[in-house]
This record gives sequence, structure tokens and C-alpha cells, in this order.
Amino acid sequence: MSEPTSLAWFRRDLRLHDNEALAAACDADRVVPVYCLDPREYGDRPFGGSDSFDFEKTGAHRARFRLESLSDLRSSLRDRGSDLVVREGRPESVLPEVADAVDADFVTVHTHPTPEESSVEAAVERALGDGGVELRRFWGHTLTHLDDLPMALSELPDTYTTFRKAVESAAEDTDESDGGAGDESTDAGDPAGRDPLPEPTVPPLPGDAPAAGDLPAVSDLVGNSVAESRSAPDERGVLPFDGGETAALDRVESYIWAGDHLREYKETRNGLLGADYSSKLSPWLNEGCLSPRYVKAEVDRYEDRRVANDSTYWLVFELRWRDFFQFQFAKHGSDFFRREGIRERTDIDWRSDDAQFERWAAGETGVPFVDANMRELNATGYMSNRGRQNAASFLANDLRLDWRRGAAYFETRLVDYDPASNYGNWAYIAGVGNDSRDRSFDVRWQANRYDEDAEYVKTWLPELDALPAEYAHEPWELSEDEQATYGVELGVDYPEPMVDLDDSSE
Ligand SMILES: Cc1cc2nc3c(=O)[nH]c(=O)nc-3n(C[C@H](O)[C@H](O)[C@H](O)COP(=O)(O)OP(=O)(O)OC[C@H]3O[C@@H](n4cnc5c(N)ncnc54)[C@H](O)[C@@H]3O)c2cc1C
Repeated sequence: MSEPTSLAWFRRDLRLHDNEALAAACDADRVVPVYCLDPREYGDRPFGGSDSFDFEKTGAHRARFRLESLSDLRSSLRDRGSDLVVREGRPESVLPEVADAVDADFVTVHTHPTPEESSVEAAVERALGDGGVELRRFWGHTLTHLDDLPMALSELPDTYTTFRKAVESAAEDTDESDGGAGDESTDAGDPAGRDPLPEPTVPPLPGDAPAAGDLPAVSDLVGNSVAESRSAPDERGVLPFDGGETAALDRVESYIWAGDHLREYKETRNGLLGADYSSKLSPWLNEGCLSPRYVKAEVDRYEDRRVANDSTYWLVFELRWRDFFQFQFAKHGSDFFRREGIRERTDIDWRSDDAQFERWAAGETGVPFVDANMRELNATGYMSNRGRQNAASFLANDLRLDWRRGAAYFETRLVDYDPASNYGNWAYIAGVGNDSRDRSFDVRWQANRYDEDAEYVKTWLPELDALPAEYAHEPWELSEDEQATYGVELGVDYPEPMVDLDDSSE
């Protein structure tokens, strides 16, 4: 028997497709979709823990993307006769008020394993419970469902390869034991992977629902950072990254199908310039405009219709990295945010130096490959995986500055920020996370290997344009005469390197 009224509490699941929490809300006769702009997610906040520091939680790139995503979701719901009620306020205050106004019986939400998100859920559950309203949680942001893991969370391997092999082999075993053609399993509880859910029928917004409310402007959320927002997109950026489910599905279509780029993903994925060297799906996946199960289903369809090769396998391999960090955070929780990391390493002497940190953040280190990547991040909110590995390694391993400050800077700036992927990858590179091997990157070697002709570095550092490729990567090797010849004076046109890479990467 259906219950009369529900709230569909949207968070990082701003989509109609494959949305179990929304589908469950739509079991009720009356449904009010709600989104809360939580003030704790904006402005300057302390990092917390020992040696805390302040940082801006959400920068303009992600705020812009999120607002566009909300606008797109609202417009899709309006097309279906519903709406999205948006309120600025803490969910534990807003949701009981809205629930009370429409006399809701239950609220549905997608749960997240990261500490801040979990504590908000707990506060909402308590506040709703006081009014006799139930919070129903669903797991919906990973490729493999939490309940389908082939091991208990406490037994989750801390190395990716072990995790991936276990998940892959459980999926293969299930495939083999499936009934074959005509078999209709895989809707739930299936290690082979659940199919994406169809879009539910959303009932019209009830007449007693509160007014939908206006969406704020980017500048209302992030103050003075408007300059980096959408009003001035940088033409050098890999993609404009329009927020929302509509743009997400368009990107899947254009990357996988129209552009046919999936067939060569494994060969191109270490690129640095242009829209199509990698999928660029991360902002949509992390804001929940796109379901990873939908992406996997499209890869399966592509394999059936066009080609199944190393590249098609590898996109799913990368999605499993994303899963890995989500489950790691479910297992280790806030230990990931400690400077010593989940490995409790106390043998590293992390330094604190504001001036050095600011140079790194501004892309003024004097090491072009690092600077170009940081300038791309600052201008666009995106950086390639190769760039992230090098920029992070430079801060953590060459400068030995507290890796959490670098990670927090990425948290502010990234358009595709995700707590588990960001802090998990940073901890990994800093040597305090999921790998005991040295993850230090030789930035010079990497620059020459992945940006052989220095096209990337020159795109983001036009002041080095006149230099031959080898000097564009190592301008400190220029003699004074060569500096005069090329019109690049070190310390004037481009900074002297802030560290001797020979000393730091011993
Ligand atoms: C220091 C550092 C910080 C990072 N911070 C984030 C972050 O905040 N959010 C984020 O989504 N990714 C993060 N990554 C992972 C990776 O760099 C991005 O997912 C990727 O660059 C996004 O571009 P894409 O969608 O074109 O990736 P593709 O190469 O097309 O990969 C497809 C998808 O797989 C997932 N993926 C790929 N690599 C990783 C990885 N190493 N870890 C987790 N998931 C992965 C992403 O969801 C990605 O969209 C970080 C990596 C490093 C080294």
C-alpha cells in the first residue's frame, strides 16, 4: 500500500535516470523534490584536526557547475509537472520544515560514506525523527553496489589491484552462472552489476508544497571569486563543462558514440590538451548528474555494437578506481583526512611554509609542468589525471609541504571534486594512503614524456612560447645569453625554480 507523501532529498544525485532514492520517493502518491544549499559547504572553513588551517570549501567553478545542474534538474522536473524546491539552509533545519508543511511520511536520500556527508545525514535523521518522519537511505553513486561487494567492508583490501580482481572475478562467476539468453536477473543484489534503473514517473508537485524558490547566483555562494566563474570561460579549457543531467548524457553520447573515442581511450588517456583524450565525465559523475552504472551500460552496448578492446575495458577499470576510494572511505572514515593517513605514518617531516604554498597554488613554482597544470586548474577547475599526479607529487614529495593543504586547495578549485577520490588520491601520492610503494613522480621526466613538444606547457605559460621544447620544460638550464636570445629572463619573465629537483627527488 503506498504512503501518502514523501520528500525526495536530492544531494549529489542531480539526475532522474538510475536514481533509486527518487524512485523510492515516487512510491508515494505525493512527492516533493527538495535540495538544500548547505551554508557549511561554502565560504572559508577550518580543515579540522591537528595543525588545522582555513580554506574555501567550494570555489566558483564547482558552484557554477552545481547551480547549472540544479537548474537543469528543476527544468526536467517542471517538464514532468513537478518542481525542485531549493532552500539555502542546513538540511537538518530545512527538511523537517518542508516535511511538516506537506505532512510528509518519509524522506529518501542517497547516502555517502564520507564523514561530513554522513554527519549531516545523521543530523537530518534525528531532526526528522523528532517529528515522526523516517529517513530512508539508498546507496547509488558507485558502479558496484555496496551490498554486492564480494567481501565485508571490514575485509576490504587496501590495495586497488586486490580489490579490483575480487570484484571482477565475482562478476565473472555470476556471469557464468547466469542462465544465458533470456535470463532476466541483474536488477538487484548482483555482483555482475546492477542495471541502471529506469526513470520513475514523478507525480505533480502537491498544491501545499512550499514555493520552489529562486536559485542564487554563483557570486552569492562564493563571494568575490566571480572572476573565475562562467562569465569568462577560458578558451584553452578542455571543455566548457555545462552542469546538469542533460549535458552529462550529451557528453556520454558525443564521447562514446558520435566521436567514437572510447575505442582508443587507453592510448589517449594520458593526454593533456583537448576535449577527447579522456572521457571528462568526472564532474557529472561527482555531482550525480550521471550514474556510473549508466556509463557501464553504455560501454557494454558499445562493446556489443562496435568493439570490445583494452580501451573499453580500461574505462571501467578507471570507474573501479573511483569505487575503490568510495569503499575505502566507508571502511576508514575520517582517518583519511589525518596527515599521517590510514597508514599512520609518523616518519615524514611535513613542513609548513605559506609563501611556498602560495607559489605552488598560483602556478609560480618555476617548474613549468607543475605551473601549467596549476594555472589550468585555477582558470578552468579541471586538470588531467597526469597533471594532478605531478602537481600533487611536487607539493607532497618535492616540497614536503603538508599534503592536506594541497588536497584542500584542490577541493576548492576542482569542478569535479569528490572527497574520496581527491583525498584518497592525494594520500596515495603522499605515501600515507593505499600504497606502500614510493609514489613520488619525477616531474622533469614526466614533462618530457607526456608533453614532448612542450605544447601543453606553452599553452598555459605563453611567456615560454619562444623556447625550444627542452628549455620550455627546464628553463633554469638557459644560460644568460640564451635568456637574452629567447627574450625570457629568469626571475623576471618567469620564476626561478623554488626547489632543485635533483636534491628533492633523491
Ligand atoms: C591528486 C589527485 C586528485 C584527484 N581528485 C579527484 C577528484 O576530486 N574527483 C575525481 O573525480 N577524480 C579525482 N582524481 C582522479 C582523476 O584525476 C580524475 O577522475 C580524472 O582526471 C577525471 O577526468 P576524466 O573524467 O576525463 O577521467 P577518465 O580518464 O575518463 O576516467 C573515467 C572516470 O574514472 C574515474 N577515475 C579515473 N581515474 C581515477 C582515479 N585515479 N581515482 C578515482 N577515480 C578515477 C573518474 O570518475 C573518471 O571520470 C584525482 C587524482 C589525483 C592524482
